[in-house]
Formats: sequence, C-alpha cells, structure tokens
Amino acid sequence: MFDWLIVGAGFAGSVLAERIASQRSESVLLIDRRSHIGGNAYDCYNEAGILIHRYGPHIFHTNAQSIVDYLSQFTSWRPYEHRVLAFVDGKLLPIPINLDTINHLYGLELSPAELEEFFASRRETVGEIRTAEDVVVSTVGRELYEKFFRGYTRKQWGVDPSQLSKSVTARVPTRTNRDDRYFGDSFQQMPAGGYTRMFERMLDHPNVKIMLQTDYREVRERIPFRRLIYTGPIDEFFDWKLGRLPYRSLRFEHVTLECEQFQPVAVVNYPQTEAYTRITEYKHLTGQRNIRTSLTYEYPTDIGDPYYPVPRPKNEALYKQYEALADNCPDVWFVGRLATYRYYNMDQVVGQALATFARIQKTIPASDRAPQSALAMPV
Ligand SMILES: Cc1cc2nc3c(=O)[nH]c(=O)nc-3n(C[C@H](O)[C@H](O)[C@H](O)COP(=O)(O)OP(=O)(O)OC[C@H]3O[C@@H](n4cnc5c(N)ncnc54)[C@H](O)[C@@H]3O)c2cc1C
Repeated sequence: MFDWLIVGAGFAGSVLAERIASQRSESVLLIDRRSHIGGNAYDCYNEAGILIHRYGPHIFHTNAQSIVDYLSQFTSWRPYEHRVLAFVDGKLLPIPINLDTINHLYGLELSPAELEEFFASRRETVGEIRTAEDVVVSTVGRELYEKFFRGYTRKQWGVDPSQLSKSVTARVPTRTNRDDRYFGDSFQQMPAGGYTRMFERMLDHPNVKIMLQTDYREVRERIPFRRLIYTGPIDEFFDWKLGRLPYRSLRFEHVTLECEQFQPVAVVNYPQTEAYTRITEYKHLTGQRNIRTSLTYEYPTDIGDPYYPVPRPKNEALYKQYEALADNCPDVWFVGRLATYRYYNMDQVVGQALATFARIQKTIPASDRAPQSALAMPV
C-alpha cells in the first residue's frame, strides 16, 4: 500500500513527490503515461548529441527567489536571457515590439519619446477591453496588430483574436526603449545539465517509486494507495461526464541541419507567413557546441496532447463545474496546469505545488495514516 499515488511526473507531480518523500518520509508511487519523467519540460539528447526539448522550448524565468532556492537543490544554472525575433515584411525584428522594431520596420529614427507619440497616434479607443484584439489595438494600433499579432494568434489558437479573451495577449508587453529581452523577470536561467537531469535528482529518493507508460485510468482500481495527487486533465479524471474541456495542441517537427547555426536567436516567430508559428534553435538556449544544429518547428493543431487551455468564457464556466466536483473529492489534490485548466509557467506550477504541500502539511499530520478504504475514486 503506497501512502500516495501521484499521477503525472511533470513539475507539479515531481515537486510534490519530492516534498512528501523527503519531508514526510511517506511512500510515493509516481506514474506517468509517457515514457519519461519531466512532463512537458522533458529534454533529451538527440542522435546528433544535441540537447533538445521534445515539447518545444522551455525557458525558466521568475521573480520568486523562493522558487529558485527550491530548484537550486537539484540543479545549478546557466545564465540565459531569452530573445525572440519576428519575421515581418521580410525582416527579422525584435519582439516584444520596442524602439528598434519600429525604427527598422519603417526606416525611422524615432527616440523613445517620439515612439510613445507614434503609439499614441495609432492607438484605437476601445470602450471596454474584453478580447485579445482589444488589448493590442488599444496599445499599438491596428497596423502593428495585423503585422505582428493577428496571424500568429490565429495560427496559435485557430480562432481570430477578436474571439479570444484578453488574457491571451496580456503576456506580451510593448516597450519604448531598446530592451529586447523577451521576459522582464529578475531570474532568467536554464538548468545547467538540462531539465530531465534536474527531475532525476529531484526524484532520486528511496521513498519514490516511478512507473512510466502507466495511465491512471488503467491502474486506478489495481494499485492500493491512501491518498491521491492528480496532475492530469481534470475532465478526464471525471470521465468527461460534463463534456470535454477544449485544448490547443502542437505538432513538433524536430530537424537537425549540417550547419553550426541557423538563426541569430533561439526563437524566431512567423506571424505572417508559413504554417508553423515559430522555429527554435536549441544551442542558443544551452550554449552547447556542435558542428550541427537542431531545430523545432511548431504547428498548432486541435488534435494531440493537451497543451494550452483555450481561454474563452464558456470553457472557464465548464471548468468551474469540474472544479466543484473536485471540491467534493476528499483526499484528492488537483494540481498543475491540466488539473486546474490554466496556462501556467513552470515557476508558477512549482509555486502551486509547494503551496499544496504546505496545505497537506497543515491538514494531514505526517503520522496520520488514513484507513485503506479511503481510496479516492471518481464517482
Ligand atoms: C510548447 C510549450 C512551451 C512552454 N514554454 C514554457 C517556457 O518557456 N517557460 C515556462 O515557464 N513554461 C513554459 N511552458 C509551460 C510548462 O510546460 C508548464 O508550466 C509545466 O510543464 C506544467 O507542469 P505540470 O506538471 O502542471 O504539467 P505537465 O508538464 O503537462 O505534466 C503532466 C504530466 O501528467 C501526465 N498525465 C496526464 N494524465 C495522465 C494520466 N491519466 N495517467 C498518467 N499520467 C498522466 C502527462 O503525461 C504529463 O507528463 C510551455 C508549455 C508548452 C506547451
């Protein structure tokens, strides 16, 4: 009998497995239906010996010192500041939009103050900002919206930005200076040995057993456990009984080229042309040297693994109904981006998992062994 069954070996499941094993000395069975640990942050060496991210580029960035301190127990770091270019009107231009973006795009020599005036003259007045389109046209105007945002968002989500909640583009700031870093966070760094190595260290504890290629739905009635932490899709946990929560997925095309470098930065976005949204070149992220280089092309799709919850009010309403069911499952803890149907960055998921652990510590004394009948099954 395991004290805990944890479903999903991504950040949410692995952080909780580590905490429970090391701080409560309780036994954990950690399962994942994939053939590896690390969830979407999984990285591995390909046939050319280049470290790639199987599920697209994962850049660690945060403002939370406590999250960095926690993860630093399992990895050292390589400083890395993420920079992204967008291929617009045949030019490679910094994104988020900054002073250089506008000056290079239009052949101007604006100062920061003049760029502010430029934006002000193009901004559209929007009564109530509700959609992703509203956010962008009220910040930089319609022309830049069309060039940089509309096509990318349509590819990414399969719907027009006017149909998507404002939360989608709230993540992309614009700047009037020349700062071309993609993120503004105080910590921007990559695990020095890669994410998978960090997960291996986190889970290297005698109280943690790992079973891969194991789907919870196949084993839930066969594995004895006392309490459950579930980090998979919440609608699946309840056998989709209220309907399916929509997700946007991605098809990743991984290629290796016989040249040392393909593009000037790790990520180039394609908002106007091509069927893919972006190309990632990993050596920029890892600092690896190799005579070849490996890239990933991302093609958004509706079919495939669930990656991005689709931020529309009716989906949020359906999630709330599932959340109400989850609230009635004693001894089941729903954690992570799939179980809470929200796009979270890695640092946020680590924060959510550590907060969940604090709640577990508060509500379940470590010595308290729940009765065997307290199996947490969906009803
Ligand atoms: C393309 C892409 C790029 C991203 N880039 C960044 C970035 O640059 N920076 C950043 O901070 N964040 C990034 N993220 C977000 C990051 O991936 C997540 O924050 C993080 O992986 C969430 O961890 P998690 O444990 O909640 O979920 P996951 O990593 O998805 O882990 C959940 C695990 O549960 C398993 N599972 C699900 N259901 C079952 C079941 N029934 N039985 C067994 N196992 C199950 C899955 O196989 C999966 O391994 C990106 C996400 C994507 C999709």
